[in-house]
Amino acid sequence: MLRESVRALAEAKIAPHAAAVDEESRFPQEALDALVANDLHAVHVPEAYGGAGADALATVIVIEEVARVCGSSSLIPAVNKLGSLPVILSGSEELKKKYLAPLAKGESMFSYCLSEPDAGSDAGGMKTKAVRDGDTWVLDGVKRWITNAGVSDYYTVMAVTDPEKRTKGISAFVVHKDDEGVSFGAPEKKLGIKGSPTREVYLDNVRLPADRMIGDEGTGFATAMKTLDHTRITIAAQALGIAQGALDYAKGYVQERKQFGKPIGDFQGVQFMLADMAMKVEAARQLTYSAAARSERVSLGSTADKEDLTFHGAAAKAFASDAAMEITTDAVQLLGGYGYTRDYPVERMMRDAKITQIYEGTNQVQRIVMARNLP
Ligand SMILES: Cc1cc2nc3c(=O)[nH]c(=O)nc-3n(C[C@H](O)[C@H](O)[C@H](O)COP(=O)(O)OP(=O)(O)OC[C@H]3O[C@@H](n4cnc5c(N)ncnc54)[C@H](O)[C@@H]3O)c2cc1C
Repeated sequence: MLRESVRALAEAKIAPHAAAVDEESRFPQEALDALVANDLHAVHVPEAYGGAGADALATVIVIEEVARVCGSSSLIPAVNKLGSLPVILSGSEELKKKYLAPLAKGESMFSYCLSEPDAGSDAGGMKTKAVRDGDTWVLDGVKRWITNAGVSDYYTVMAVTDPEKRTKGISAFVVHKDDEGVSFGAPEKKLGIKGSPTREVYLDNVRLPADRMIGDEGTGFATAMKTLDHTRITIAAQALGIAQGALDYAKGYVQERKQFGKPIGDFQGVQFMLADMAMKVEAARQLTYSAAARSERVSLGSTADKEDLTFHGAAAKAFASDAAMEITTDAVQLLGGYGYTRDYPVERMMRDAKITQIYEGTNQVQRIVMARNLP
């Protein structure tokens, strides 16, 4: 039922704007409005804080169905989870009440600030620092590649509070868009997901009250990594949705397009390509959903599933994103010259798929994570 209702909404309210959002590199406001009106913009927020209380699998299905029509728009529910999960996992009751309620109501969005210009795969090498001054913390530094920067009101920011302790000297904070000293760089000019703003976040002497720290001092990096264990599955869902969208489009096209006097879908060479694409989509879906089930069990307190989640989250993300890249490339191939133009959606899907192999840890990094947590 959830899938059917999100698909109907996505096709009616989000799909019609996807090409223009990409072409004009503009924020998908229509998608945000439709998702908020239907309570689908941040479904993961627990009911206790005014949210829909969707479990990890339901959240994945929402993201998948939005991504099937528009990769950029799927980053609204995905990054709202990424940005706010540190508060859900490690924040005090006060922080949860203060920040999750406006997120659930659709009044504000949340971003996640881990990466820096010189700290990507090696996120622990970050330079942004937070220095204690009485009852306040003063933050200075630059965060790079921040999804929905400038649109979100709230930012989970990881910063070094004790440089001697490396990753155990990193702490997490909630920063507001309108805190004095916060500003944003120009939007990046990207290959794909052009409707999702990606900007630098500048922190210039940003003074925060001490209660804006998420969890204890020195736990920020662990919280950031724990968050990624759960949210890599949402990127797998994004990849899966993009791949399904490309497969669905190609499936319809080969029945209409005629060459040599018959639909190209009658040729076995074309049928074999579609069979491979569908096989990879289904394998990606199974891996993603079983990782989502592990995410939910860990959220409900299972310690037995914890290491298992780290492996499966990384595996789902790496497999689904590699599959999405192959499937969208094959969809372009099946449309021939037409597939290579912006008159058809599959070239956008191919460009959008690429990012899923890069963010929330590149697929090389996923393989490092998997190798360290082999089942
Ligand atoms: C559009 C977009 C949105 C993003 N959104 C966010 C966001 O909201 N919040 C956030 O914090 N970050 C975000 N990121 C950052 C993203 O997570 C990083 O780009 C990513 O982790 C890679 O870091 P890097 O770009 O510095 O690449 P690098 O770390 O410089 O990597 C370059 C290459 O080297 C490889 N490499 C590096 N180390 C190793 C190794 N040990 N073994 C093998 N290969 C290795 C990588 O796999 C990659 O191929 C976003 C990025 C983009 C492009």
